[in-house]
Amino acid sequence: MRHIADIPADIPAVIAAVTILAAALPGAADGQQARPPSFVILLADDLGYGDLGCYGHPTIRTPSLDRMAAEGARFTQFYCAAPVCTPSRAALLTGRLPVRSGMCSEKRRVLFPDSADGLPDDEVTLAEALKTKGYATACIGKWHLGHLPRFLPARHGFDRYFGLPYSNDMHNVGRGDPPVPLLRGDEVIEQPARQEALTSRYTEEALRFIGENRDRPFFLYVAYTFPHVPLHASARFNGKSPRGLYGDVVEELDASVGEILGALREPGLAGRTLVVFSSDNGPWLTQGLAGGSAGLLREGKGSTWEGGMRVPGIAWWPGKVSAGRLITNVVSSLDVFPTFLTLAGIEPPRDRAIDGREVSALLLGTAAPPEAPFFYYRDETLMAVRKGPWKAHVLTRPGYGAAEPKRHDPPLLFQLERDPSEVHDVAKQHPEVVRDLLGEVERHRAGLRAPPSRLEARTART
Ligand code: MG
Repeated sequence: MRHIADIPADIPAVIAAVTILAAALPGAADGQQARPPSFVILLADDLGYGDLGCYGHPTIRTPSLDRMAAEGARFTQFYCAAPVCTPSRAALLTGRLPVRSGMCSEKRRVLFPDSADGLPDDEVTLAEALKTKGYATACIGKWHLGHLPRFLPARHGFDRYFGLPYSNDMHNVGRGDPPVPLLRGDEVIEQPARQEALTSRYTEEALRFIGENRDRPFFLYVAYTFPHVPLHASARFNGKSPRGLYGDVVEELDASVGEILGALREPGLAGRTLVVFSSDNGPWLTQGLAGGSAGLLREGKGSTWEGGMRVPGIAWWPGKVSAGRLITNVVSSLDVFPTFLTLAGIEPPRDRAIDGREVSALLLGTAAPPEAPFFYYRDETLMAVRKGPWKAHVLTRPGYGAAEPKRHDPPLLFQLERDPSEVHDVAKQHPEVVRDLLGEVERHRAGLRAPPSRLEARTART
């Protein structure tokens, strides 16, 4: 049998997809009963594009993530699907723009401790889909898709849950918020959660889950609480990073990644697991030194400038994803859902729009996906579109602050390969590109039937 890396990139995509699927399943090549790969998503919270050693940070030390990138593939144009937590996580787990699930709102941008809603039952999550093929599933860390029992991870396909139901800063006494709870399953086991211990406890839980499920396919979703503010590091990391507390927190997260990858390198597990590392959105720049860096990208969290939505992205699957690859294609967290399902041999749901693209061929180095536009939403509002190297902003707004959105007619146009910092508007020089991108916006809007937001209903207080 030919090795998948030998398949020419120009063979028909459908044949490539089938071949890749067959080759990707461990045991398929030698006639053993196919066991689908396991999947791990490691998601940081508010980590910026410029916050890791392998993305150019000069003083934050991230040897484990740097090694992960050296052994796998590092993406230079990996996007989250929304510039804040709740909609970004909904998109990652469903492959659908948050505007389709109602998990975004201009008035309330994320769920709060007094929110009465959460991810709707009729959304199909990655965990639910993978369970149809016998995967063990666990969610460890920040959920933020509804804290009431009927919205917690157990109702969305996860066998196990350990973590915070929302952000670690959501304990506003004036608003009536309770101290931040730590949950196991649906039960609060600690309140307030000891935040300095969270990263190491998440690691322990992840290692236990991997150990207990080493003989079957599993899906592990580790959504770290940090480096979202307030920053907390354990005694082992506190005060150690030249970058200060933000660096301590990221370096502890890096060590956690190192322990999890170490477990997946052990005999019996090696080569069986695809791991993806990313961040839910860009850095929270208004937090001063407690916020991260988007590197050369403009703006941060809350904004549809590149710094709000282009984030670190690393894929690791020794023996399948070639070591040391730099992938410059545009991909997004929306692509994770259809890609994992394809690699598991599961048909994605056909009764709904899936916005992500299946990119296993890109990951495995056999073919690039066809070009497709990427849409930048701030809440329900479509702000910008990217196609190839071109990005047109029809609206802009700062990540935080009261400024009204600024409408651009004609749109601002940037060539991101030449101008990744979005400084030089070239709309006047390229009217044909502007027309093409506006056409994409119109086609997208015409095809979208968005439900009302589900983020605004609040629980009655007694
Ligand atoms: Mg976040």
